[in-house]
Amino acid sequence: MDPTLVLVGRPNVGKSTLFNRLTRSRDALVADMPGLTRDRHYGHGRGGPRPFLVVDTGGFEPQAKEGIVQEMARQAEAAIAEADVLLFIVDGRTGLTPQDKAIADRLRRTGRPLHLVVNKAEGMNRSIVAAEFHELGCGDPLVISAAHGDGVRELVELALEPFPENSAEEEAEKGPRVAIAGRPNVGKSTLINTLLGEERVIAFDMPGTTRDAIEIPFERNGRHYTLIDTAGLRRKGKVFEAVEKFSVIKTLQAVEESNVVVLMLDASQDISDQDAHIAGFCIEAGRALVLAINKWDMVDGYRRERIKQDVARKLNFLGFARVHYISALEGQGIGGVLSSVDKAYAAAMAKLPTPKLTRALIDAVQKQTPPRHGVFRPKLRYAHQGGSNPPIIVIHGNALEHVPDSYTRYLERVFMEAFKLQGTPLRVQYKTSH
Ligand code: GDP
Ligand code: GDP
Repeated sequence: MDPTLVLVGRPNVGKSTLFNRLTRSRDALVADMPGLTRDRHYGHGRGGPRPFLVVDTGGFEPQAKEGIVQEMARQAEAAIAEADVLLFIVDGRTGLTPQDKAIADRLRRTGRPLHLVVNKAEGMNRSIVAAEFHELGCGDPLVISAAHGDGVRELVELALEPFPENSAEEEAEKGPRVAIAGRPNVGKSTLINTLLGEERVIAFDMPGTTRDAIEIPFERNGRHYTLIDTAGLRRKGKVFEAVEKFSVIKTLQAVEESNVVVLMLDASQDISDQDAHIAGFCIEAGRALVLAINKWDMVDGYRRERIKQDVARKLNFLGFARVHYISALEGQGIGGVLSSVDKAYAAAMAKLPTPKLTRALIDAVQKQTPPRHGVFRPKLRYAHQGGSNPPIIVIHGNALEHVPDSYTRYLERVFMEAFKLQGTPLRVQYKTSH
């Protein structure tokens, strides 16, 4: 599982500035999605030695007794409880405050790995800024400037040191890694039990790490899959039971760890912001995706039409994903979901040979040339594959920084059709030669 860094500190020390620096959105698509970038407290970290998650706890006040402040404190406590590493941020310009001391006491008691981070230190002498914070008893302060980026890379490397990445060999041969995601009560546990109840579970309690990531290998029609748990499943008698309630962090970790996400929606409910948020994270992580609209058994014709329209309208950015209407309870439509998982996985892992990519690119440009931008006319020359899951297509040429987003979307559609890549998002990147 990807480690989670949790940012804690009193208001105004620079947590959200650091959060933004650590999570700079992976591509423009994310910024385009309404409701997704506003008020974000969870994000995929980048720029470190391996993938990680970042949580911003907002303003943390351990003594808060009531109202919204107390609610924020409650959420901060929940994030702290799930943290792999705590980053305690203080303000190097304001200096040490009594509130910092109260937070330090609280954090030290968690026993979690803790790094003290002194922010806003650009242009200042590091050892002088750090000196007064030693008395917090949280170890040697790391001195950074979130606004300027000074010291941020070192901070991430240090924080992630205890979490080496899994080796590629370990991951091979287990088939697609599948996460079943969705908000509470859509039917995730029911689907998992239907899947695992019918099929042979090869092994349940994997020796795993101390962080007890749960992976459940299973087999269906001779094909192997590994289910990545999103909810802290435990086997209880013959059935699996979620021992924890819905956890945003677990969901994000499972999405990040998977190759393919089965995103579940509840046909009896309208699509909510939470559904859209979870969908947005899948896209941001670049995961292949299958949509499973559950509880089809309990909805009438009117609802069925309504949910179809709702998906088309609110989740239109998932147009690449196959949609299944299922009943996890009655075991209807499950085979179709797994067959789409196979196809989406194949698409996500496809090998895209350079000559074929370049041919598709040149055909696309002949059909529709990229628009001129002032005196610049972007020239797209050739393409090669830069990665898998999601497939990354790197296009080489000149003046490519002037290719408009709409043209990039056009190229994505062209590649998707040329290589039959349904089920996975695609990334197109540009490399301009000067
Ligand atoms: P939060 O309340 O802890 O999330 O703090 P913010 O990220 O909103 O930052 C509070 C203020 O500190 C803002 O005005 C930021 O621009 C400023 N700030 C954040 N990081 C730095 C930094 O590295 N240097 C300086 N000088 N200001 C910073
Ligand atoms: P989770 O929170 O996403 O794991 O959701 P659960 O699997 O616990 O399901 C929530 C509720 O929805 C339970 O009462 C299930 O019995 C019910 N449920 C799940 N799938 C279906 C389905 O396909 N049809 C119907 N009618 N009910 C379902």
